[in-house]
Amino acid sequence: MKKIKSSKSYQCPVCGSESSETLDSRRLNGHEHKNLICGSCGMVWVSTRQPAKTYDKFYRSGYAVGVYGLKDGKEGLDEVLEWRVRRSKEKLANFGSAWARGSRVLEIGSGIGALLKYLKDEYRCKVWGIEPEPAFAELSQKELGLDVFAGTFEQWTKNHPKGFPLKYDRIVLDQVLEHILEPVDFLRRVAERLESDGKIFISVPNVTAPKDRQKDFFIFEHVSSFSPFALWLLLARCGFKIVRMHAEKPGSLQVMAMKFGSPEKMIDADEVGKPQDKSMILRRFKALEKHGRNK
Ligand SMILES: [Zn+2]
Repeated sequence: MKKIKSSKSYQCPVCGSESSETLDSRRLNGHEHKNLICGSCGMVWVSTRQPAKTYDKFYRSGYAVGVYGLKDGKEGLDEVLEWRVRRSKEKLANFGSAWARGSRVLEIGSGIGALLKYLKDEYRCKVWGIEPEPAFAELSQKELGLDVFAGTFEQWTKNHPKGFPLKYDRIVLDQVLEHILEPVDFLRRVAERLESDGKIFISVPNVTAPKDRQKDFFIFEHVSSFSPFALWLLLARCGFKIVRMHAEKPGSLQVMAMKFGSPEKMIDADEVGKPQDKSMILRRFKALEKHGRNK
């Protein structure tokens, strides 16, 4: 499959199929923003991608701090931390036994560090983070005393910081994958950092069980959207098998995956459901609109 370089891509980033239709189209931040759905695997991706530097600029303009309503550095931090730790606990509860005491954990996109702090305190894990938002990286370093690299995963791999192991027992991608422009390349590089019997935890918004209305779901910074089948296929292409899956109804899709060759049993394709189609997904959004959930 050829690599996607152009700003308009009509080829599915997961299965390479060129059969797709428009699922959602709107203008965001002054740009056309079009989500296509793959006719073969049901992957949803933005075909009108902006250059990486446009997204960088977007994230660097206080985006992440605004997400949590934090002002002036740490004001309101305690409340946000409490809420984030509660949310992390909810997500981890489905995979609790996987957090072996003392395991070495890397979280890519560690935010303010709530999950890492929880794993460190409750499970005695050794934890490291990578966080591109400078304000968050600084908060987690200074307020929580965590070892967090301020930058992107790419920068971290190019300039491996002192004190960070080369490989990990656990890697966490919590609400990160939907922001990644090249998910196949990215996950293959992430796989290189995971021990052969290691586990990766991924949580993404589930396009087949949306919690947000359509206009709040297809936002500028989300360049990929996943159904269970599309995530299963993406991971398989990158050398991972899903060994456990949990879908909130509605909400996020959470999976634990391991590399092929590791002993745990893979969840088969027919257990994760069929590739989703446009009409089914639009029906879900319509139902959400009708019942007026959220925002
Ligand atoms: Zn596809």
